[in-house]
Amino acid sequence: MRAWRGRRQRPSLRSLYHHLVRALGPQHWWPAKSPFEVMVGAILTQNTAWVNVERAIAQLEAAHALSARTLARRPSTAIQRLIRPSGYFRQKAAVLQGFSRWHLKRYQGSTRAMFRTPARRLRQELLGLKGIGPETADSILLYAGRRPTFVIDAYTRRIFQRHHLISGREPYDETQRFCLDRLPRRVQLYNEFHALLVAVGKRYCHRTDPDCASCPLGKFPHHIEVHA
Ligand code: SF4
Repeated sequence: MRAWRGRRQRPSLRSLYHHLVRALGPQHWWPAKSPFEVMVGAILTQNTAWVNVERAIAQLEAAHALSARTLARRPSTAIQRLIRPSGYFRQKAAVLQGFSRWHLKRYQGSTRAMFRTPARRLRQELLGLKGIGPETADSILLYAGRRPTFVIDAYTRRIFQRHHLISGREPYDETQRFCLDRLPRRVQLYNEFHALLVAVGKRYCHRTDPDCASCPLGKFPHHIEVHA
């Protein structure tokens, strides 16, 4: 993909990354005790704040339901009750149970076996599951499987669009290719960069009224178009 040809100067992805590392430090992602917990968190975090996911995961853990076997076998209403803090709990319970059944059937519940599958094929398998889109699939690959893929989310699009890197209208895979083509193929870098972009999005780069004066990326050329 070609870079978005805005008229103004564009920063390199590497310069943004290094600047953010210096300004904000390591983000220690993904906060979880096991790769399976990362995968559950990646599903639950859709459309909600992380603090709500933490509450849902704590409840699953307390109920000894944080495994593919228990998630697949317990009644759906029981899973819904446990993950209620994460919002959209009926849909998310169905996604978690569908994912867990697939995980058991396809990989006998072994995360190690799952991540022995070539990344491209595994991504396609994940995308074939109901309720798992590219952002969730890539989060699973990167943060649970330590595979070198870049996660694109709304914060990434907004920050890159405001810094003249993309138009913001590109499809997911095109924006991801833009990043992969411009960064060294390093899992830890992809891990940290995505986490840093999320931190910037949450703290400064709000959809309306962004705080560019305080933001560590404020020194890079940017423009703000706020749509109602
Ligand atoms: S808040 Fe402003 S400076 Fe920071 S990333 Fe967003 S547009 Fe850039």
